[in-house]
Amino acid sequence: MTETIAPPQAKPIHHWIGGTSVAGTSGRSGPVWNPATGEQTGAVDFATVEEIDAAVRTAKEAFTTWRSVSLARRAELFFAIRELVHEHREDIARILTAEHGKVLSDALGEVARGLEVIEYACGIPTLLKGEYSEQASTGIDVYSIRQPLGVVAGITPFNFPAMVPMWMWAPAIACGNTFILKPSEKDPSASVYTAELLKEAGLPDGVFNVVHGDKVAVDAILEHPDIASVSFVGSTPIARYVYETGTKNGKRVQALGGAKNHMIVLPDADIEMAADAAVSAGYGSAGERCMAVSVVVAVGDVADPLIGAIKERLPKVKVGPGLEPGNEMGPLITREHRDKVASYLDTAADQGATVVADGRELEIEGDGFFLGVSLIDDVTAEMDAYRDEIFGPVLSVVRAGTYDEAVRLVNENPWGNGTAIFTRDGGVARQFQFDAQAGMVGVNVPIPVPVAYYSFGGWKASLFGDRHVYGPEGIDFYTRGKVVTSRWPDPATSKVDLGFPQTR
Ligand code: NAD
Repeated sequence: MTETIAPPQAKPIHHWIGGTSVAGTSGRSGPVWNPATGEQTGAVDFATVEEIDAAVRTAKEAFTTWRSVSLARRAELFFAIRELVHEHREDIARILTAEHGKVLSDALGEVARGLEVIEYACGIPTLLKGEYSEQASTGIDVYSIRQPLGVVAGITPFNFPAMVPMWMWAPAIACGNTFILKPSEKDPSASVYTAELLKEAGLPDGVFNVVHGDKVAVDAILEHPDIASVSFVGSTPIARYVYETGTKNGKRVQALGGAKNHMIVLPDADIEMAADAAVSAGYGSAGERCMAVSVVVAVGDVADPLIGAIKERLPKVKVGPGLEPGNEMGPLITREHRDKVASYLDTAADQGATVVADGRELEIEGDGFFLGVSLIDDVTAEMDAYRDEIFGPVLSVVRAGTYDEAVRLVNENPWGNGTAIFTRDGGVARQFQFDAQAGMVGVNVPIPVPVAYYSFGGWKASLFGDRHVYGPEGIDFYTRGKVVTSRWPDPATSKVDLGFPQTR
C-alpha cells in the first residue's frame, strides 16, 4: 500500500493540526481511489509517532482554554457549525461519493443523520446540567457536575466518512474536550473538509485535529499517555484490539465492531413491504453499512413468496456511478474488497446454497469496483456466507421453521448490532423486543439506527466497552462525574471531631 507511486493526478491529502494543514513527513502514504472509475485520485499522508505526538501536544494546549469556554458560547458555536455543515452538505456529499462511491442521495442522507448529532450537541448547556441536593445534611449541600476528560481521540471506518466522525467529535467537543480524529485512510478528505468548516465556524485552533495513517498512527494513539479516551468504529478484530490495547494503557474506550444483522419475516407479514425493506436495507450503500440487513430469516411458508418478491425487485435496482442521477447503488470501496465479496457466491454454491441472483453478471463499462446485487437462498448457519460479515451487496436467506428457531439464530450469532422483525402481530413483536440479543431492534423497520437523542451501539462482538455512541451515553462517555459536598458554617461553631462524618 505504501510503496505505490502515486500518479500525477493524485492529490496529496495532509494532516490538520492546530487549525492548519500540515504535510506529513514520514514519506509513507496510502492511495485514495475513485471507486466508480478505478482511478487513484489521492495520496494520503501516513503519520509518524512524532506527528501524533505533535497533534496531542497541540490539543492538550488547546484544552486548557477550551474547557473554560462558557456553555453559552459553546452552544452558539455549535449552532454556527450546524449552519455551515448544513449549507455545505452537498459539497460534503460529493466528497463522500468521490472517495467512498455511495450514490449522492445516500451521501446526502449520511450528512443529514450526522447533522442530527450536531444539533443534539447544540443543547449542551441542558445536557451538562448536574443535580443539586439542598440540605443533604444540616447546613450541607451536595451537587454533581460533569467535566471533560481532556484530549480524546476517534478512529473511524471507511463506510461513513462524515457521519461516524460526527458521532464522536460533536459530543466530545461540546463537552469541553479537544479532539484527534484518525479517519479511514480509504476516504479521508471529508475529515479535512470538516476541519476547515469548523475553523470557519469559529472553533479555536487545536480543538479539532485530523491525523491520517495506518496501524502506526493507531498504535501511537492507543499508547499516548496524554490521550484520555478512544472511540473506535470498525471491524470486530480491530475493535477488540483497540479496546484491549487502549484499556491496558489506562484509557476509557468504546469500540464498535462489525455486524451480521438478521431480519426475521414472519408468515403474517406483508410480503410486499418486507421485500421492499429487505432490498432497501440489503443493498443500500452496496451493503457496506454496519446496519445493513445481511440475513433474511424467512419463517415457515413465507419463504417462497418472499424470495419471489425480492427477486422480482432486483433487476430494477439501478447500479452505477454515484454522481449519475437515478443510480441507487454505487461501487464497492476497493477492487480487493469487491473481489472478496464476489468470492462468497462461489463458496456458497460449493457449500450447498442456491445462488438466486449473481451480481457478477452485471456489466458496467470502465474499471470501477462494481458488483451487482446478489441473493443466496438455502443458506445455513454453518456456511461461510452466514458466518462472515460479507459487507457487500449479497443478501442471504435462511429458512426457519418457527419463531423460536429464528430468534435462536439471532441470539446465537456472535454479533449483536441490529436486528428487525416483520410481522402484523404486536404481541410477537413485543416478545421479540424482549428476546433479541442485540443493541438495536426494529419492528417493521429494517435499519433501526436510533435518532440522535438516543444512543447507538450493539451487543456481543459488535461493541467492546460499556457505553454506546452519541446521545446521552455519548455525553456520559466524554465526561467524568464529580460530586461536591459543601457547607458554609459559622466559624464560631467549628471544632475538632475525629469521627466519620454523619449525615443525620
Ligand atoms: P477497519 O477495522 O478495517 O478499519 C477501521 C479503522 O481501523 C480505520 O481507521 C483503519 O485505519 C484502522 N485499522 C485498520 N486495520 C488496523 C490495524 N491492523 N491496526 C490498527 N488500526 C487499524 O474497518 P473498515 O473496513 O474501515 O470498516 C468496515 C467495518 O466497520 C465493518 O466491519 C463494519 O461493520 C464496521 N462498522 C461498524 C459500525 C458500528 O457502528 N458497529 C459502524 C460502521 C462500520
